[in-house]
Amino acid sequence: MFDSHAHLNHENFQVDRDEVWLRATEAGLRGLVNVGWDADSSSLATQMADVDLERFASVGVHPHEAADVTPQVLADLREMTKRPGVVAVGETGLDYFRNLSPRDAQITSFRQHIELAAETGLTLIVHDRDAHEDVLGILSTDAPAHLRVILHCYSAGPGLLHDALGMGCWIGVAGNITYPNAADVREAVKLVPDQKLLLETDCPYLPPQMYRGQRNEPMFMRATLKAVAQARGEDIDAVEVQTEANALAVFGLDVQRSFDG
Ligand SMILES: [Zn+2]
Repeated sequence: MFDSHAHLNHENFQVDRDEVWLRATEAGLRGLVNVGWDADSSSLATQMADVDLERFASVGVHPHEAADVTPQVLADLREMTKRPGVVAVGETGLDYFRNLSPRDAQITSFRQHIELAAETGLTLIVHDRDAHEDVLGILSTDAPAHLRVILHCYSAGPGLLHDALGMGCWIGVAGNITYPNAADVREAVKLVPDQKLLLETDCPYLPPQMYRGQRNEPMFMRATLKAVAQARGEDIDAVEVQTEANALAVFGLDVQRSFDG
């Protein structure tokens, strides 16, 4: 398993981060990307990165915090992209569900993140909540064709999927696929081409159904893997191997080195 979107840099893991990592690897985790949501959490993700352990980092400012993106924050993020183990920019995007930052600030920040990813050649991790039209519209005007883009925590139905796949996006599937009310997500996941499918936890958030009420952690991702395999009518082991390979591809990692180890 490869967790393409985790937040072990979250304070909820402060006391037992090493144990969480250890039991995840014992449960079959091959690698993970810790994703930043502001300057501090991004920096911490880079400090936790360890290329030999397949533990990587993404640096960026979440749309909730977009109002805080100053030129200094952008300069700091740009510096961080040069650190070892940084494979992505984000999470960025738009959140019109909670609107914790004004929409124009979110849009400006999103565009700046796209530019940074394009400039550095890193993958872009996108958060989209109730903002599908603007997210895809901005990507189609701003993102160069070669940019690798992940729509993380896919929570819409098949409709948006068609447009996102048309733009070449990878689709990150989190624990919410196991929720009783997520029939449309299961429907959509059926339609994702093999090469575009990624697994993620978004931990400490979104624990799979059987762990609801608990802090989510990478070890629990096997429940998501099973649900994805079931929704697609595929073998669990095959989906596991495929999604690991996809994670290495989307983050531009050396496939040979990773699978030899
Ligand atoms: Zn996240």
